[in-house]
Amino acid sequence: MMRIDIATLFPEMCEAVLCESIIGRAREAGLLEVHCHNIRDYTQDKHRRVDDTPYGGGMGMVMQADPIFRCYEAVCSQLPQKPHTIYLSPQGKVLTQQMAVHYSKEPYLFLLCGHYEGVDERVLEEIVDEEISIGDYVLTGGELPALVFVDTVGRLCQGVLADESCFMEESHFHGLLEYPQYSRPAVWHGKEVPEVLLSGHHANIARWRREQSLLRTGQKRPDLLERAELTEQDRAFLAKKQEKTR
Ligand code: SAM
Repeated sequence: MMRIDIATLFPEMCEAVLCESIIGRAREAGLLEVHCHNIRDYTQDKHRRVDDTPYGGGMGMVMQADPIFRCYEAVCSQLPQKPHTIYLSPQGKVLTQQMAVHYSKEPYLFLLCGHYEGVDERVLEEIVDEEISIGDYVLTGGELPALVFVDTVGRLCQGVLADESCFMEESHFHGLLEYPQYSRPAVWHGKEVPEVLLSGHHANIARWRREQSLLRTGQKRPDLLERAELTEQDRAFLAKKQEKTR
């Protein structure tokens, strides 16, 4: 089972999300362990301060190194090995599904959430293995990115979803976007569900879904289609489609 420790100044914000839905149920069922630690509990300052003004001047406050380091050490003392430590940061490598699959195999992850202007560089040098971003924009804190990370990685852990096929057919797993999905009723606002889906013919349904994946990836994310691993049958299908549109 994977254990994730989150170091944050806003543990309640993280808990409020992580006790809900699929991740909440996975935690209850003991499939995933997530602990939220308040960095403020580790300050030795008598006013419980965790931040100070930046050396060199400038706007805002910087999270101090020591409370973060003490929090990290307290977590390490509970674990049989050092956790893989990630600082959620707009300067990091942008999270992808492939990276999430990789992290879902780590036994211990320590996630550090920055706030304000960021974190004293020295503690990052000392404890952080890598920086991960959730996109090229800046949030007020690392809590939402950490929640995005836990949700994305947590649902890939064994037993969290009913079946591995739940995520293996999804967008991004194999570099393509997912085919369109339909549910009851068979006709809604005059729109019919594609006939093949009602046929019960599994091979035809699988082929139709693959073709739809190829088509919508080409329409919505041509950059992904260019990089995707395609079979001969996929290429033949796309070439035929292109011919028809000419
Ligand atoms: N001054 C920092 C900079 O320019 O790189 C940005 C600090 S940001 C206002 C505060 C915190 O939010 C960061 O320390 C980081 O933990 C988190 N954060 C902001 N944007 C993020 C993103 N895109 N991905 C991951 N974490 C982010």
